Amino acid sequence: MTDRLPGFNTLAIHAGAAPDKTTGARATPIYQTASFVFDDVDHAASLFGLQAFGNIYSRITNPTNAVLEERIAALEGGTAAVAVASGHAAEFLTMNALMQPGDEFIAANKLYGGSINQFNHAYKNFGWNVVWADTDDPSSFERAITPRTRAIFCESIANPGGVVTDIAALSDIAKRHNIPLVVDNTMATPYLIRPFEHGADIVVHSATKFLGGHGNSIGGLVVDGGTFNWAGDDRYPTLSKPRPEYAEMVLAENFGNFAFAIAIRVLGLRDLGPALAPFNAFLILNGIETLPLRMQRHCDNALAIANHLAHHPAVEWVSYPGLETDRYHGLARRYSPLGSGAVFTIGLKGGYEAGVKLVSNLQLFSHLANIGDTRSLVIHPASTTHRQLSDPQKITAGAGPEVVRLSIGLEDPADLIEDLDAALA
Ligand SMILES: *Cc1c(COP(=O)(O)O)cnc(C)c1O
Repeated sequence: MTDRLPGFNTLAIHAGAAPDKTTGARATPIYQTASFVFDDVDHAASLFGLQAFGNIYSRITNPTNAVLEERIAALEGGTAAVAVASGHAAEFLTMNALMQPGDEFIAANKLYGGSINQFNHAYKNFGWNVVWADTDDPSSFERAITPRTRAIFCESIANPGGVVTDIAALSDIAKRHNIPLVVDNTMATPYLIRPFEHGADIVVHSATKFLGGHGNSIGGLVVDGGTFNWAGDDRYPTLSKPRPEYAEMVLAENFGNFAFAIAIRVLGLRDLGPALAPFNAFLILNGIETLPLRMQRHCDNALAIANHLAHHPAVEWVSYPGLETDRYHGLARRYSPLGSGAVFTIGLKGGYEAGVKLVSNLQLFSHLANIGDTRSLVIHPASTTHRQLSDPQKITAGAGPEVVRLSIGLEDPADLIEDLDAALA
């Protein structure tokens, strides 16, 4: 072998994994154990004092999860990663490491609905304040910065699908003000977009979606880009100040360019506890092995169906950046040249009634609240996820009465088109 780095397909299968040393097992075993035996008392002491890396308890580390962590770090091009119980746990532990009570972060206003709820409501309990900026106007982020701003948060390809973020423009602003840029890369996955290449400092994932890819397990990941210098920065005491629980160790000084990942693990997972079950890590690892194949098919199918629907008489509009006429097509070509993802929205000429009819009539598409499955999925936000909002709020959130969201799976596109045509008729 030369010192050339392996390609993305190879990393998706091999990064972090090796045949099991004791059994020879080729697939990564599921280490279904709560605890790990110490070699001796000195070994135990060095593990607890963070002087040695090793397993203590599966809330903090687990060998199956470790393979998943190394693999996503390799695919994203980060220095280290931490597997957690869900995408929401990844966002929460990230903010917990960055924020103190009274601090603020700026979030792009086009986000997964669950993140909007988490930021607006749950974070209030911690004294963390979200300030919203316009995804489509990077200068609105710069105007929102105050001395209490501790992070900028966006999605690479944003919900409800069809929005591409200018990550480099947000990174320029973040760097000018020395604030870390956190990118939720769930909808794109590193196959389509690697946010660190565009200036992100931290990447978070819901592994529930395309990484796992089969709609069978909830999981999340935090990836440290190793790019932000926390040392000596009083704004980030979790990383820059002596930790009383670790003999006054300063994480930023001790762990350098993977200090953020360490903080997520030894403070976030250890104290707050949203650990990923090793069985789920195994299923997500299995999913990632075929990520490049699946994502390309997801994108190709989605483009074929978006094209078909754009010419359908019952459809008023299609919002998919892969279409040449789409307002995000230029950003999609720049950030996501292999494809524009699998999730997009359409507007039906028949309004609310037509939306309800479509989700009721579809046979092959499943009517449910998820994205990123092998199976094609559909939801009518106005009658489900967004039904509690007022009509003007629905429209602002991209969930007007006529809007239907599709997550295109891996079936034959001809079958999906037949299903859509029959349901629209
Ligand atoms: C689903 C999702 C989340 C939340 O992830 P869970 O695994 O459901 O907790 C966060 N961000 C995006 C973009 C998502 O699609």
